[in-house]
Amino acid sequence: NLNFHPAGRHFLQIPGPSPVPDRLLRAMSYPTIDHRGPEFGALGRLVLAGIKRIFKTQHPVVIYPASGTGAWEAALSNTLSPGDQVLMYETGHFATLWNKMALRLGLKPEFLRYPGADPHLPEAPGWRHGVQASLIEERLRRDARHAIKAVCVVHNETSTGVTSDIAAVRRAIDAAGHPALLLVDTISGLASADYRHDEWGVDVTVSGSQKGLMLPPGISFNAVSPKAIAASRTATLPKSFWAWDEIIDMNQTGYWPYTPNTNLLYALAESIEMIEAEGLEQVFARHQRLAAACRAAVQAWGLEIQCADPAVYSPVLTGVLLPQGVDADKVRQVVYQSFNMSLGAGLGKVKGRMFRIGHLGECNDLALVAALGGCEMGLKLAGVRVRESGTLAALEYLGSTATRQDRAS
Ligand code: PLP
Repeated sequence: NLNFHPAGRHFLQIPGPSPVPDRLLRAMSYPTIDHRGPEFGALGRLVLAGIKRIFKTQHPVVIYPASGTGAWEAALSNTLSPGDQVLMYETGHFATLWNKMALRLGLKPEFLRYPGADPHLPEAPGWRHGVQASLIEERLRRDARHAIKAVCVVHNETSTGVTSDIAAVRRAIDAAGHPALLLVDTISGLASADYRHDEWGVDVTVSGSQKGLMLPPGISFNAVSPKAIAASRTATLPKSFWAWDEIIDMNQTGYWPYTPNTNLLYALAESIEMIEAEGLEQVFARHQRLAAACRAAVQAWGLEIQCADPAVYSPVLTGVLLPQGVDADKVRQVVYQSFNMSLGAGLGKVKGRMFRIGHLGECNDLALVAALGGCEMGLKLAGVRVRESGTLAALEYLGSTATRQDRAS
């Protein structure tokens, strides 16, 4: 019923799109300008320079008017040729979708998997762990002829709430003495979880607008290394719209070869300003702290956190596994209908087994407390027994770790 408007604001607690701050909504409402005119060039140069600081790169970042899936395709089609072998790693649903895309593009992906079992999630044990870099190293060492052209991993697996150690993957590739490109999806990690494109030696980083950057969906990114650009000159997968060369060329003066997403670029400029005013490292610390509070709540409820390895807990979202026999989608439905809050669904192999709480973007202490309150009431209403109050546990954590900001200065 599109005419039904419950009072107050909707709690969009999915792990992206994340709530769009009012400042960005206002910026997006400015008039659309001539994308070949002088004002636009200034905007283009501003966002292209600013987004490099967010990726921590000195090299070009290509901005597409597309969702993250488009930027995935751009990363593959610019660097690879039909029939190329690529090494991918099944961390969850998004890694699985990228693998499917590689197949559809005519590549030969090999999908590495976590080898262990898990009593709480027998259907997808690997979906509770990050990339095991040693498996990548071992596989690359066996590829003496260097048939594998790229290693593709997801940095923040949005379907599970598990991150992967990208620096360790780089070290694994180097230890094997292998020339494969390193392609990384941090669609849901950028501007929320520590990420360093240049320092970690990533060749293509794929990201999107609707997560840590707090924009609506609609633009996405490829941060590219000189080695990736060199590969794009000889790679032969068909590419036209996605081709980096003309875009990078025209970006020198702040323009694009086609009509860019002007109003989303206004929002991007505003977003970069907000993130840098808070401080990128402070943004990461805020996400870590909110994630710790969320996990304190899940543990107090007596439920399992989907990520089984504390070293790689996601600062962006928390996956909550429900006891066998409980329908997680029923819990989400009760929360939605009773408290006007959207939670992330279990995707693919974990559909109905878990739900996801997003704590990214502009999320703060009180927003998280409200979200956890909604989850707790929803769990009880759906008949899930909780051990003790997770909301209170989060309050304790947040209260005891709060810092005061001197707002006058
Ligand atoms: N990769 C990851 C890790 C994601 O979280 C998403 C979307 O949630 C995608 C890829 C796909 O991006 P999009 O839905 O913007 O096309």
